[in-house]
Amino acid sequence: MNKKLTLDTITSFAKRRGFVYPSSEIYGGLAGIYDYGHYGILLKNNIQAAWWKSMVFERDDIVALDSAIFTHPLTWKASGHVDSFNEALIDCKSCKQRMRADHLLEKFGINADFMPLDQINLELNKLRETGELKCQFCGNKDLTEARQINQLIRTNLGTPTKELKDLTPEEIVYARGETCQGIYLNFKNITDTMRVKLPFGICQVGKAFRNEVIARQFIFRTREFEQMEMQYFLDPEIMNEKYEEWKQVRWNWYINELGIPEEKISWKKHDKLAHYASAAFDIQYDYSCLGGFSEVEGIHQRGNWDLSQHSKVSGVNLEYFDQKNNKKFIPHIMETSVGLTRLVLMVLDNAYTEEDLGEGKSRVVLKIKPSLAPIKVAVFPLQRDDKLRESAYNLYRGLKTKFTAEFDDSGNIGKMYRRQDEIGTPFCVTVDYQSLETTW
Ligand code: ATP
Repeated sequence: MNKKLTLDTITSFAKRRGFVYPSSEIYGGLAGIYDYGHYGILLKNNIQAAWWKSMVFERDDIVALDSAIFTHPLTWKASGHVDSFNEALIDCKSCKQRMRADHLLEKFGINADFMPLDQINLELNKLRETGELKCQFCGNKDLTEARQINQLIRTNLGTPTKELKDLTPEEIVYARGETCQGIYLNFKNITDTMRVKLPFGICQVGKAFRNEVIARQFIFRTREFEQMEMQYFLDPEIMNEKYEEWKQVRWNWYINELGIPEEKISWKKHDKLAHYASAAFDIQYDYSCLGGFSEVEGIHQRGNWDLSQHSKVSGVNLEYFDQKNNKKFIPHIMETSVGLTRLVLMVLDNAYTEEDLGEGKSRVVLKIKPSLAPIKVAVFPLQRDDKLRESAYNLYRGLKTKFTAEFDDSGNIGKMYRRQDEIGTPFCVTVDYQSLETTW
């Protein structure tokens, strides 16, 4: 039974059991940045493998890509990120805590998606006048006006002789804010080289970087994170049909591949859309450690905005010639975009179980789907005995060629099982004296 799963509990568990560490901890850490330990990497890789299997290997209409983190600076101008990938923030003048204006407004039922800054301030002022606007941390009513911050992270790659502030807009290079832009830039390469025909998709997994104003939710929202994105290129005539198909595919993936109970996920429909989008739904997971449903994946119809913009700004024709119907057009895009590191938190949150042992004692069991478990099998000798040890070690070496396996001969069988329960290992093998008579 999970008594109460808090963010602190899952954060300290993830560190104690080698899943996730705060980055640069010996220097006091770096807000919103985390490192993944041995079990964290194995878990992340297993989630990623389940995604590749479902999105690429089991299908005929998807190809893979690994594009660079850095792209030509015009990429982000053309995509609209330089001008409008912004977040509005507010500071409390008393406790100095920072808050996102859209999150504050949401508490009053006001949807600030795509709202211009002056309108955000107008809405905030109305709440100020009625005395309802308060710091969510200390309750103080003296808050600053909202200011806008661009979320792209800049660097001076290739112009190391200049200070960042002296760079011209053409010289500023951005760490990618989302992985999909690299997919759009390679659309032509892929249609030229991969014998793909519409409708088809391009998948990629990789790091993305955002200057998140607020990064207080462990690995749910970080400034460096990993995305798994699929961009599906199609004729707009079949958009709605394909959209419904993909929504179903992605929903089923959480249940069948990640073992998430259906009642713990839900759909959230976006009421306000980007000017180029025609439908947007998110899959949300009910994070116990965050106190409710939060977005894990976005499934969006993006129209042909992205390819049209890159075609316009680069001057390269990104039209597709549909031979069957004898027509030329810029394909429309349907995307599925999910945060891999957000899924690591989802899987841990869903699996973390504290079992009551009585007398005030409890133990942690990670009830994880075996295919996602970092270690598949652990082998222990029953006692500290050279013969048992040798036999157990040989068995472990054999298993290790096929599975992630661990060998533990630290002695206390109960403790050895418990250690494996905590990391969700589905199989443990104890070698006893009878086993010595068995040939492996
Ligand atoms: P949010 O509303 O939570 O900021 P978003 O709508 O901006 O997310 P998208 O741009 O649609 O997110 O990105 C797709 C996915 O990437 C999200 O559903 C989420 O899983 C993941 N993601 C986005 N931002 C972050 C972040 N800062 N840290 C971890 N994962 C993220």
